Amino acid sequence: MPEKLQGMGAIPGVAIGKIMKAGQALDGHLAAYKPGTVEEELEKLNAAVAEVADVLEKSVEQMRAAGHDEQANIMEAHMFLAQDPMLTDGMTAKIEEMGNAPAAVLASAAESAAIFQSMDDEYLRERAADVLDVSKRIARKILGIKEPEVGEDMVVLCGYEVEPSVIAGVPDDKIAGVIMGQGSTTCHAVIIAKSRAIPTVVGIEHQTDEIPEGAKVVLDGHKGLIIIDPDPATLLEYMEKLKQQKEAEARYAALRDLPAVTKDGVEVQLAANIGSPNDAANAAKYGNRGVGLFRSEFVFMGREDIPSEEMQFESYKKAIEACNGELCVIRTMDIGGDKPLPYLNIPHEDNPFLGYRAIRISLNRRDLFMPQLKAILRAGVYGKAAIMAPMVVSVDEILRLRAFVREAMQELEDEGKEYSKSVQLGIMVETPAAAVMTPTFAKYVDFFSIGTNDLVQYTLSVDRVNPNVHYLYNHFHPAVLQLIHRTIKAANDHDIWAGMCGEMASDPYAAVILMAMGINELSMSAPSIPRVKEMIRSVTFEEAKGHLAKVMEMETGEQVLKYLQEAMER
Ligand code: PEP
Ligand code: MG
Repeated sequence: MPEKLQGMGAIPGVAIGKIMKAGQALDGHLAAYKPGTVEEELEKLNAAVAEVADVLEKSVEQMRAAGHDEQANIMEAHMFLAQDPMLTDGMTAKIEEMGNAPAAVLASAAESAAIFQSMDDEYLRERAADVLDVSKRIARKILGIKEPEVGEDMVVLCGYEVEPSVIAGVPDDKIAGVIMGQGSTTCHAVIIAKSRAIPTVVGIEHQTDEIPEGAKVVLDGHKGLIIIDPDPATLLEYMEKLKQQKEAEARYAALRDLPAVTKDGVEVQLAANIGSPNDAANAAKYGNRGVGLFRSEFVFMGREDIPSEEMQFESYKKAIEACNGELCVIRTMDIGGDKPLPYLNIPHEDNPFLGYRAIRISLNRRDLFMPQLKAILRAGVYGKAAIMAPMVVSVDEILRLRAFVREAMQELEDEGKEYSKSVQLGIMVETPAAAVMTPTFAKYVDFFSIGTNDLVQYTLSVDRVNPNVHYLYNHFHPAVLQLIHRTIKAANDHDIWAGMCGEMASDPYAAVILMAMGINELSMSAPSIPRVKEMIRSVTFEEAKGHLAKVMEMETGEQVLKYLQEAMER
């Protein structure tokens, strides 16, 4: 048995705990299972479906009560899926064919999952895991297998695939970490673990089988490292790290209501990135000031048709109200790329990240765009709102966007509906073209928000979701830094505000130089806010400017990161 396994760090943090195996093979149980008549097997299916739905419903309630909304939503989707005729009809038919309920459940699930898995886009492929998760639960119920039980120890869940519902079933005070063999960082299991900040390592493939149940492990989510049965010195080292992590968490809690201000009084607004109105309310516990990115495409996803203006209005209103008077930036839907929307029937594209996506769709689909703009303008009455367009590359797009907004206002006037005339209008700077054009674009918008997730991808020609080229993906690359600097300078020169809502905004080292460049706002997933705030409060603006001058002379991203790490350590 190897003592150290190297995977990919999916969620940072250190964990020490005992292995609790999840997602184990059911083969042995299936071989020992004695089926009854077809009628009896069908009854077992129905009973198991009802019990699973019941357990999931309780999970949803617990998760909501603990404020884990994202998790609750996923569990709720599983609860509906468990009872969805699309799934259960297939299972019933298979039982009639095979006469063995658990085997039929798994066979039918494998067929449904294969359909999802054959789909072109990552999001839909990930749904295969949801079908398998729910079906395995049903099969386990029929086989009489108990769900893993948590004892006294802190556990590290471990499996090739750890089902989201299993993670959701372990309470906060018992779960230390998660290890998964598969390599995706966007699957629901990782999303769930992230919303609870559980250190997670993925991508060790079937080496998960070699880690024994009950083994003591150290997990390092920063380095993607797993150490099995650590020696006393290693254990001591990681216990110290864990202690520091806990101390940092306590410090972060104390920072919640303090401003993100440098020692010499320069303030940066730290806002939250959200995917649903509930996220806006949850962000408050991390001390956010407003929302810098509401990814509105999530309002459009997970449905079978376009959400109505009214439905969108309710969502945006709820998010705006949760911002308590701070700005709520609502990005118009960013569909395409890795976020497909089946009911739009967008034809297959060889290069979806360079294809028909985001503002390109919106400007072309009045039936989609007009209700969205009207919903945001109406919701703007309930606080401070902004409209932000994704993937802009030309002045023409901005002018057409502005014309659309004027038209939406006119329609609302004609309909006699109340709306806000002071909703700001901005764009994401996430293409190299936009960054280069910012001195011109600044004449037509109220703000820029830099989307580094795409800006890095397009500037360095590195697919953001391809692990084979991930080593090239670096937001400190000098080419990226120059485009960011140019964007912020253009905003400062034209007296509009500049923010950042890509992942770089959550990097405390980056925050130092972005601040020195003159950025006004950084928007990130809410749990990252305290770390960035602590960093900003630890430096002076003058020091930050000194660091910026040095890094802008450097030739590689690696040099920049090393310099900043060393400077901040000091
Ligand atoms: C970005 O590209 O940086 C961004 C924030 O948008 P998304 O990650 O949704 O593409
Ligand atoms: Mg983007």
